[in-house]
Amino acid sequence: MRDKLASPTNQAPSKPTTRAGVDLGLGSFVTVTDSNEDRIVFSNPAPLRASITELKRTQKQLSRRIPRSHGYERAKTKLNRLYRKSTSMRRENVHQVTRYLVDTYGEIKIEDLNIAAMKQSMRRRAFRRSLADAGLGAFGPTLTYKAKRAKVKVVVVDRYFPSSQIHHNCTGKLTGAKLATRLTCDTCHVEVDRDENASFNIRDWSDIS
Ligand SMILES: [Zn+2]
Repeated sequence: MRDKLASPTNQAPSKPTTRAGVDLGLGSFVTVTDSNEDRIVFSNPAPLRASITELKRTQKQLSRRIPRSHGYERAKTKLNRLYRKSTSMRRENVHQVTRYLVDTYGEIKIEDLNIAAMKQSMRRRAFRRSLADAGLGAFGPTLTYKAKRAKVKVVVVDRYFPSSQIHHNCTGKLTGAKLATRLTCDTCHVEVDRDENASFNIRDWSDIS
């Protein structure tokens, strides 16, 4: 008997022999490079970006107001509403991207999410961190769950693998400012996109370790 619950996700991936490297990035939400050298970048959708901008503005407002005043309470209510809205949009985004990955590739390689979360938390501000975590925290479990049902292989890359520090083309060391989205190779002096280079390294991880 068919498992009714599992049936919607039981379709085979459209590219069963294709391997994908997935980087949860600093610049873009998710960067994917596959074994056919195709790349897809998933940015945060515009409504989510707008909501995050408004969230930041409201937080600034809140910090300027006197605690327990009318204006303070109003800003706080607005902030909570925006936070809930952004979090649910981010979760929806996680669902869409993980659905795409599982429906497309036969093997998905992803970096250890503790490292991804650390990269995000380098952005300092607490609310941005917690918002980023709302997406990142859900990404791994959501992907794993969907992949298992679709019988797609997920490989978690070693948590100490420095995917953002090795130039994929020449294995030279990449340097740049801490949160820079562009990095320069010490060996061949080429400038690369941090997330794009990381997705290459994650895709090829088992081959180069
Ligand atoms: Zn290089």
